Amino acid sequence: MTDHFDVVIAGAGPAGAQCARDVASRGYDVVVLETEPEAEFPRASNKSTGGTFPSMMSSFNIPDDVVMHFTDNVVLESPNHHFAQKQAGAVLEFADFKQFLVEDSREEGAEYYFDARVAGPIEEGGAVVGVRYNGDQEVYGDVVVDATGPSAALAKPLGVSDLEREKQAIGIEYEFENVDLDHPDYADLHDAMMLRLDHEYAPGGYAWIFHTGEDTAKVGLCYIQNEGYRQYSDEQRTIDGYLDHWMETDPRFENAEKVAGKQHRGSAHIQSPGQLSTDNFIAIGDTVPTIDPLWGEGINKGMQSARAAAITVDHCLTPDEPDTSAENISVYNDLWHENVAPNMESRLFMTELMYFAPNSRYDTFMRDLNNLDLQTMRRANEGSWRAISKLIHLKDVPLLAKFAAHRFRS
Ligand SMILES: Cc1cc2nc3c(=O)[nH]c(=O)nc-3n(C[C@H](O)[C@H](O)[C@H](O)COP(=O)(O)OP(=O)(O)OC[C@H]3O[C@@H](n4cnc5c(N)ncnc54)[C@H](O)[C@@H]3O)c2cc1C
Repeated sequence: MTDHFDVVIAGAGPAGAQCARDVASRGYDVVVLETEPEAEFPRASNKSTGGTFPSMMSSFNIPDDVVMHFTDNVVLESPNHHFAQKQAGAVLEFADFKQFLVEDSREEGAEYYFDARVAGPIEEGGAVVGVRYNGDQEVYGDVVVDATGPSAALAKPLGVSDLEREKQAIGIEYEFENVDLDHPDYADLHDAMMLRLDHEYAPGGYAWIFHTGEDTAKVGLCYIQNEGYRQYSDEQRTIDGYLDHWMETDPRFENAEKVAGKQHRGSAHIQSPGQLSTDNFIAIGDTVPTIDPLWGEGINKGMQSARAAAITVDHCLTPDEPDTSAENISVYNDLWHENVAPNMESRLFMTELMYFAPNSRYDTFMRDLNNLDLQTMRRANEGSWRAISKLIHLKDVPLLAKFAAHRFRS
């Protein structure tokens, strides 16, 4: 007998498991294939700091018991300045969060195959009809969803997602105790999520300290090997070496100690999305990629793309004559561009420009943010060109010219 479901999802990350939750709650048969064994899940894929906001928690009904620490502020740091804004947030225990999504979707009726490594799509007549896993095993579905994150196990061979190596951001993080969260030379980081723009510690990217209660924090950094990295990095230093360098030179870590076994690392691509979907097939989460290019918020974005995929499944499978053609399934693309990641191109431009700028410009940026009204700041963050222009100075002309020449060459 053939193993057949309405929906087959590859990958039980935030995107895949949320998609399973949504489609199962609408009464569809759904199976999720996850490469990790259940007893260890998630170990290799426990990669995220888990910083998120109340909008995600309430939109997706996430319980407080997967939260390590609630925060009240977001702080941005440059080498010599900072900007602090009151904004409620939550730092998740990412492993508990992933397990919750699996349990909750199971309660809705979703099935899980753990220890099931998806190898590629099964195609008939040029359209995807199922997936091959663990060598020669097969499962079939009316709609197949790729949620395998940056490995894009299905989207890559189908040409739906064209993840570029040079656009891959790598990240590493450790959990520490004995961190000085209120050092006199820096902002108070109690109950805060802090992002630091500083090529000394994260060339072509950013570093972070997220408070997780008492004197503990998640501390990490990420970067892309972009022009900023090429200009400002010490090529002998690995990403682990950069984290060590930060620990050794920032007085907040003078007495800090790593919490055993609490290390997270992973990657995501910062680039334009590919095709997103095709006949019987949708790609969600970091497979596409959906992650916010500027600040690396991938959990909420991935789950929003999961919800857009679930709405699309409903749209395609509800009629008496289901229609999962590329044309009908492209409703997903509209939802993605309108609701999940609007203004992606301007936000990618802003991201590239930001990581291209030198450290001195980051100090000016912090001063500007302290003088900017909240509305303009919000609109600049959303990718409004008019608001972005308010953050650009006459003195930036040489930097912009250099940036334009670099963009033209690449
Ligand atoms: C160091 C770091 C820190 C981060 N911090 C934050 C943060 O603070 N806030 C935030 O919002 N985002 C953060 N992110 C980003 C966020 O974690 C990701 O955007 C998010 O996890 C993407 O979810 P996803 O479901 O698309 O993919 P993933 O989380 O990558 O999940 C993919 C799943 O598919 C499975 N899989 C992979 N290949 C296969 C295969 N061939 N067959 C079957 N299963 C497979 C994996 O095991 C995994 O369970 C961070 C990322 C990193 C690397």
